[in-house]
Amino acid sequence: MTTHSDCIFCKIIAGDIPSAKVYEDEDVFAFLDISQVTKGHTLVIPKTHTKDIYETNEEIAAKVFSRVPKIANAIKKAFEPVGINILNNNEAPAGQSVFHLHIHLIPRYGKEDGFG
Ligand code: 5GP
Ligand code: ZN
Repeated sequence: MTTHSDCIFCKIIAGDIPSAKVYEDEDVFAFLDISQVTKGHTLVIPKTHTKDIYETNEEIAAKVFSRVPKIANAIKKAFEPVGINILNNNEAPAGQSVFHLHIHLIPRYGKEDGFG
């Protein structure tokens, strides 16, 4: 398991920074985004530090993406959204601000949810 001592998401995985955990297994961690774009906005990350989609490998990508359906269903059950957006930002000009690969799960509640 590769971790980076200066990475905020590695610190969250280690429990050094508190988070609201949504899901965890041996390879993947999911937690509520501190800045909730909509209610239940969740980040899914690999436990192995990898910067972005360019620097990851098939094994890590397969692990993290394979958990998304299960986590999306848990969010659907818990928050009862009417839809969900799934997105991944890579490099600062595309909106990436934390350089540990992550997938955003953003539940949608209709026009009034203020996103998009
Ligand atoms: P990005 O902009 O890189 O695609 O997404 C990074 C996300 O991480 C942002 O939505 C931001 O709110 C979230 N984030 C940054 N620091 C923390 C933190 O300490 N805890 C949690 N739960 N989320 C964080
Ligand atoms: Zn990291």
